[in-house]
Amino acid sequence: MTPQAAYDELLRRSREEVLLRSCAAVLEWDELTYMPPGGVTGRANQLAYLAGLEHDRATDPRLGELLATVEGSKLVADADDLPAVNVREIRRSYDRLTRLPRKLVEELARLVPLAQQQWSTSRQEADFASFRPWLEKIVALKRQEADCIGFAAEPYDALLEDYEPGTRTQDIVGLFGSLRDELAGLVRAIGQSRKRIKSAILRRTYAADSQQSFGREVASALGFDFERGRVDQAVHPFCTQIGMSDCRIAIRYSTNNFSDAFFSLLHEVGHGLYDQGLDPAHDGTPMGTVTSVGLSESQARLWENLVGRSLPFWKYFFPRARQAFPEALGKVSLGDFHAAINQVGPSLNRVQADEVTYNLHILIRFELERDLVKGDLSVADLPAAWNDAYKRTLGIVPANDAEGCLQDGHWSEGLIGYFPTYTLGNLFAAQLFAKARAELGNLDQAFAHGQFAGLLDWLRDQVYRHGSRYPAPRLIERASGAKPDHRPLIQGLREKYGELYGI
Ligand code: ZN
Repeated sequence: MTPQAAYDELLRRSREEVLLRSCAAVLEWDELTYMPPGGVTGRANQLAYLAGLEHDRATDPRLGELLATVEGSKLVADADDLPAVNVREIRRSYDRLTRLPRKLVEELARLVPLAQQQWSTSRQEADFASFRPWLEKIVALKRQEADCIGFAAEPYDALLEDYEPGTRTQDIVGLFGSLRDELAGLVRAIGQSRKRIKSAILRRTYAADSQQSFGREVASALGFDFERGRVDQAVHPFCTQIGMSDCRIAIRYSTNNFSDAFFSLLHEVGHGLYDQGLDPAHDGTPMGTVTSVGLSESQARLWENLVGRSLPFWKYFFPRARQAFPEALGKVSLGDFHAAINQVGPSLNRVQADEVTYNLHILIRFELERDLVKGDLSVADLPAAWNDAYKRTLGIVPANDAEGCLQDGHWSEGLIGYFPTYTLGNLFAAQLFAKARAELGNLDQAFAHGQFAGLLDWLRDQVYRHGSRYPAPRLIERASGAKPDHRPLIQGLREKYGELYGI
């Protein structure tokens, strides 16, 4: 078999796997949006069946033979060239999956739904003790997973690699360490400011249908293509890509809170703009997928925070918001509104945290989960370690474990190594945005006129169309001119919040 024939077969198999995954994505989307409760068992069977098929195909020894035929051939001589990228990514996934014993994969798959169920009950009852044995099992299995996959420095590396290929734990330690000191200083300075913010205006009545039409108008203006995507309702906001031209977003509307639905919409639209900006020529292959979870998150954060919480953005959209919500916003000034959507203060809740304190929540989770995986922290000691970290970092202590270490579902889902992607997303977003501003001139003026195409085109050209050609750290270096760095984020926050809080 020639390397070219082997490569062609690899791509055919990749397209078939992506088709299987997209069938599962439709079923998952339906489950989270429209499925009646009675459908749950049938749906679980459908999804388990598809997952089994997908796993069998992804670990088929034939893939190993095909990879061996292509690797080392002239076809993949240039590492950044299309065939080399596809082969690299198919190899990465094949090695990872075949190193995991079937028994371990099945054990985790069985454990996760039960652990999630227990987590949900334990959180409602603020009872960590009932969740503890489940988390102990999950940590033990994830540790086993890391041992099977292998790692250079520490087991956390192997777990992180699943979400952020090419980033090591030590890179995160360096970036987050610098960030922590700078953020702590900024939070302190904001805390001492005398500025009073009228945030109650955001908790007036905002009719759900008006939120829906206003959100749709904004999403369109940012460049979200409703021919290739749609927005529905679900209990938890999400964005999923069913196919190259079928991006599904879901939002939860709450009638007594403006920010909840609006900013989660912008967040998911940011993920969606990246998905919609991938190159259709690479549909079904690694080149046609996003390069890392953190980079996808960077686009969600960029459109949500750097664009959607900026003053120029609201210079354009605030008059429209007033028309959409005359009773709530008719007498509110642009300045008061902009300050309200950017209020900063230490809180116990990650999801509701502001742009400045958000990363401190992530830093805490990263350190704790890294210690859990290393064995430096036992699950039994987690609640105390969590509370201690909040006291040291944000100066507040949860009243119970529901407000503390039980608040996020990630660990019950087996997502360990995932949390750092949120802060990486903020760091990447700030670097890309600073570079776009430097290259495109006055973005403020464009935003104030409702023009976002210049920024979107720049991001498509620098980030989206490249799919997984470059691992995230390399893509950031190519697009922004510097390796991942904490300084653009800090500088952006200082400028914005310095002005807002007069510090
Ligand atoms: Zn996100």
